[in-house]
Amino acid sequence: MKIIAIGRNYAAHIEELNNERPSEPVIFLKPDTAVLRNNAPFYYPDFSNNIHFEVELLLKIGREGKYIEKGFAHKYYDEIGIGVDFTARDLQQKCKEKGLPWEIAKGFNGSAPISQFINKTNFDDLKNINFRLEVDGEEKQSGNSSLMLFDFDDIISYVSKFFTLKKGDIIFTGTPAGVGPVQIGNKLVAYIEGDKMLEIEIK
Ligand code: MG
Repeated sequence: MKIIAIGRNYAAHIEELNNERPSEPVIFLKPDTAVLRNNAPFYYPDFSNNIHFEVELLLKIGREGKYIEKGFAHKYYDEIGIGVDFTARDLQQKCKEKGLPWEIAKGFNGSAPISQFINKTNFDDLKNINFRLEVDGEEKQSGNSSLMLFDFDDIISYVSKFFTLKKGDIIFTGTPAGVGPVQIGNKLVAYIEGDKMLEIEIK
């Protein structure tokens, strides 16, 4: 499986990092070795002093496709989850300054904790999903899928032009405002609507 992630998909987050609002989705990849499942702990890596959390809704791809038209995009994902796109902000900043790719800042081991997935039929409206992240019991980020610049179907359609989507692939759909650093000892909890979906201890 592969992990495809969308950057700069919420206006308020673009502003907090002083990034430009994109005219097309910003895409990057994480390797499968980035995935943490079953609430596994995150081990703070020694190559960074500024690991940030970014809570994001996830799509799980249910069937193979490429060049998917937006009108058919909904047929290609059946399940929604939540994850954290851990980012070594210090390394990312250096890469951005030099115009280099971000992979080491975004795709390192353990940088993609993911929850269990919920069938999308459990949601009344995929364009109105609330989600949030607490760190040590304090809310740090909250978002709603209605605030995405590119919605789920836009993302599927755009990404599938470049990368054939395969069953089991996961898409991180971008983070809302409020990103910030983690410290060893923090406990992160992510919710979709009122349901606790994911817990991560920073070790
Ligand atoms: Mg992100």
